[in-house]
Amino acid sequence: MDISKLNGYYEQIAEQTITERRFKYNDFCQVIGKHFEKKILNFLPEEFSFEKRKIFPIMFGEGKRKVLIFTQMHGNEPTSTLALLDFLNFLEQTQEYQKLVNKELTLIIIPLLNPDGLEKFDRRNAQGIDINRDAKTLISPEARILDKFSKQYNFEFALNIHDMELYYTSKPENLQTSLAMLAPECNENGDITPSREKSMKVISEVFLSLESLAKNRIAKYSDKFTAEAFGDTLMERGTSSILLEAGSIFNDKERLFARKVVFLSIVKAVESIATESFKNVSKQIYFQLPENIRYNAFDLIIKNLTVKSKYENYTIDLGIRRIKPTFNPEDFTDDFQDYRILNIGKLDKFGAINSFDASNYILKGDYSEIFIGRKADFEISSTQKNEIINIKSYGKHRPHRRNNGRTTPTFD
Ligand SMILES: [Zn+2]
Repeated sequence: MDISKLNGYYEQIAEQTITERRFKYNDFCQVIGKHFEKKILNFLPEEFSFEKRKIFPIMFGEGKRKVLIFTQMHGNEPTSTLALLDFLNFLEQTQEYQKLVNKELTLIIIPLLNPDGLEKFDRRNAQGIDINRDAKTLISPEARILDKFSKQYNFEFALNIHDMELYYTSKPENLQTSLAMLAPECNENGDITPSREKSMKVISEVFLSLESLAKNRIAKYSDKFTAEAFGDTLMERGTSSILLEAGSIFNDKERLFARKVVFLSIVKAVESIATESFKNVSKQIYFQLPENIRYNAFDLIIKNLTVKSKYENYTIDLGIRRIKPTFNPEDFTDDFQDYRILNIGKLDKFGAINSFDASNYILKGDYSEIFIGRKADFEISSTQKNEIINIKSYGKHRPHRRNNGRTTPTFD
């Protein structure tokens, strides 16, 4: 499968009825109903979440080698499910690919493992359990479903798909990461067992096929062995598990770019597994993937702003990021609007969703008003024209022009 070609006609494949991350369970059921009608995919008996919402395990293929694909065990990570719905369309529509998968593999696909979490846009299930820390304790019915399938089918591979925070960046350019991948560790020593090596090779092949499309925006997700997590548990059981994490770039609030990248990754990974082409790829590529660096981007970096004071004048960058309105560290709904100054200095090592070159601007007001944690509601004035920019308006994510000579930059 030529991934760059597929990228060219992705729009024709993508599930058109859901374009927003905050879709509802009902929207999802409608799409599932459509696939059910087509009768190409084989729907297994429904499973149930804690609050008795239906979960729809799907089977496809008659091959000996078994592959599990599951999404959204964290309810507020919907890009994974949307990419998987795109994949279902692709699988139904692409004859040659379908034939290959059908012959070589048996896919078990579980989209939206945590429908109760989706309804509240919450990471956890209705009991407040993090399903990805419940692989051994099995308190949640959702974890028991995964556990049951894992034991029943003895999967060779598993794709475990999530969303991540939007402030991750990858080297060398500190751009926001759109896709991070990981071959989870299977013990405390981080040994490279044969099954982990296979995951690394598939990831390497996915990386090579996407490199030019998502240039400098693909990274290796950093994680230590977590015995209670599913990826690690599957790996312990000898399943080559692969973690995919969808990110966000620029102001792509609906993460449509990441959705496409994850969709293409699924297509490539499944093909690589079916043809076993991963065997010819060096795992060194995996080790050379850039690291995924957390909280390394700001919503806005104001660069080269001059500050005048009675002591001395100086030039700084200001890093502005939104802070969460709740105390829930797991809440990453991406649409909160409380912008604060969170760094001051030379900020070259950080990524910026938006940046503004303030080389020809000076801070309006005293240097002592610029401090960490302060609301981004200060003004800067141009040294070249009669213009004052109010950074406060940035928080509305919309350019806002006034008539009295004051303008706000179009950071969108
Ligand atoms: Zn997650």
